[in-house]
Amino acid sequence: MGHDHGGSAAIREEVAAICARFPDEYWRGLDADRRYPEEFLQALLESGWLGVLIPREYGGKGLGITEAAVVIEEISRSGGNAATCHAQIYNTGMLVRHGSEELRKSYLPRIAAGELRLLAFALTEHDAGLDTTRIATEAVRDGDDYVVNGTKNWLSRVQHSDLMILAARTAPYEAGARRAEGLSAFLVELPADGIEARPVRTMLNLETNEVTFRDLRVPAENLIGEEGAAFRYLIHGVNGDRIAAASAAIGDSRWFLAKASRYASEREVFGRPIGQNQSIQFPLARAYAATEAASLMRFRAAELYDRGESCAAEANMAKLLASEASWDAANAAMNTFGGYGFAAEYDVERKFRETRLFVNGPGSNQLLLSYLGQHVLGMPRSF
Ligand SMILES: Cc1cc2nc3c(=O)[nH]c(=O)nc-3n(C[C@H](O)[C@H](O)[C@H](O)COP(=O)(O)OP(=O)(O)OC[C@H]3O[C@@H](n4cnc5c(N)ncnc54)[C@H](O)[C@@H]3O)c2cc1C
Repeated sequence: MGHDHGGSAAIREEVAAICARFPDEYWRGLDADRRYPEEFLQALLESGWLGVLIPREYGGKGLGITEAAVVIEEISRSGGNAATCHAQIYNTGMLVRHGSEELRKSYLPRIAAGELRLLAFALTEHDAGLDTTRIATEAVRDGDDYVVNGTKNWLSRVQHSDLMILAARTAPYEAGARRAEGLSAFLVELPADGIEARPVRTMLNLETNEVTFRDLRVPAENLIGEEGAAFRYLIHGVNGDRIAAASAAIGDSRWFLAKASRYASEREVFGRPIGQNQSIQFPLARAYAATEAASLMRFRAAELYDRGESCAAEANMAKLLASEASWDAANAAMNTFGGYGFAAEYDVERKFRETRLFVNGPGSNQLLLSYLGQHVLGMPRSF
């Protein structure tokens, strides 16, 4: 199922071969034990595919978001949870695009070689929520360092990463036109004195934390780009992030549809395969159509992104359509499996929990609809 763009079929095959070494049983076991996929991550790091956006001169694959999308989709499609690692792809994207040459030289080759993991991204705060310009964590210049203080929530993979991109205020919030100014991004080495992480238990097996920064010292040369200009970088990064999330959802959807259509053809009750009933068959077929449409929009967004053209509307639509398609596929799979959908050994309930995340983040679907309503259809600002 599914069609590729450009020369990505070979990438899909290569990543699929790695994922095949980590079947459903592997992810089910991790989920039961609430363990991080260390072995899977190691294999992926060794393969170099998490360095897909890192230019060749730094030892990376030197490819675009189109190829990254295929890598991420394949992880989900194989039954794995791409949210455990796909952040490394968009994090490196930000470092490549906005990091100083010194920063790129000192970190990118080691990230590309799999020696350093850049899995953590620190933006969200409780009192700001989706209104990210309201974040209050501050970074104050002190000699050759910045000193960071504040609390953030929902920071994933912090305890399994060597590096984190951290967003903080270097100038106070100003209401109105300047509200997006004064945000800065830093590359932070982990673990560090001054960073305390408290795990938040969620319905997913994804290491997520509330994190307190207390006088964390970050060398000034680890500032990414210009001081105060990070909102612009974040906005550009967000489009890549949404294409990545769309791809993870598309992979999930393809996993649900393959699994459920096979089960629907085999499981017999009332003397016939349940897939012969239209109430079982049609929701799967409809979710398939929605997934294919979302996939085309995702590749369209990726193509624009890779050409350096504006892609916000397309990236938002791709994430919106893909997360809805995968959630529909998840529900259709649940209905197909009936009681067995609830049994851990069938993996449907695990993937059901995992794919639900994409409706809410990165960027809730309401936020994406408000983007389309305001910026594409010209209606008044809602968010
Ligand atoms: C498992 C998990 C992992 C995460 N990992 C990370 C991470 O690694 N790093 C990081 O920085 N963040 C992370 N996040 C945070 C995530 O991006 C935020 O949860 C998300 O941005 C939403 O913020 P919030 O939960 O505070 O929602 P809120 O801002 O409180 O919004 C709540 C709801 O209200 C809706 N809403 C708000 N205003 C409006 C409006 N004007 N109109 C209509 N609807 C509205 C929203 O769409 C949303 O559905 C993670 C979250 C989860 C759940």
